[in-house]
Amino acid sequence: MVEVKVLIEGYTSADSGEEKICATISLIKDGDNKIVVDPGVLENQKMLVDKLKEGGLSISDITAVFLTHSHIDHYRNIGMFPEAKTLEYYGLWDRNTVRDYQEQFSENIRIIKTPGHSYDALTFLVKTADGVVAVCGDVFWEKDLPEEDIYASDKEKLKESRKIVLESADWIIPGHAGIYKAK
Ligand SMILES: [Zn+2]
Repeated sequence: MVEVKVLIEGYTSADSGEEKICATISLIKDGDNKIVVDPGVLENQKMLVDKLKEGGLSISDITAVFLTHSHIDHYRNIGMFPEAKTLEYYGLWDRNTVRDYQEQFSENIRIIKTPGHSYDALTFLVKTADGVVAVCGDVFWEKDLPEEDIYASDKEKLKESRKIVLESADWIIPGHAGIYKAK
């Protein structure tokens, strides 16, 4: 049974006008894999511990932390999971060793490169009973937004990546908001 859920819905300073930012923090469960995607930056880390606890999980149950890209609002809390492996653009880390990852990470999780917002952006496509969920980081910050990504490293590549994400997914978990239907 595969499950993807948003643990903490992200936000950006564009929403509130305040300088408060956090990435959307998600959980993927696929068999033995218990993965936190983008551990974010929070006012306090207990918020994330509590969210995991609600789902019957503790920090040590998390087998891997996946990063959609290397902007600090998406990864500042990575140190919360010292036992977990870490997956990012350059590979799969196990403590101080790194090796290549398989595009098909597990039966139901596929990793694709979706550059444009940043050169090192990954999207995680998870096959669930309700369709494919794309955890896409800042390919989309929110539903269909931003129209113009002022931080994009490559606007043309971002356009392409957005198209691929929309074509591959039934549901999208964006970088800074809750899950929404792709079409
Ligand atoms: Zn970003």
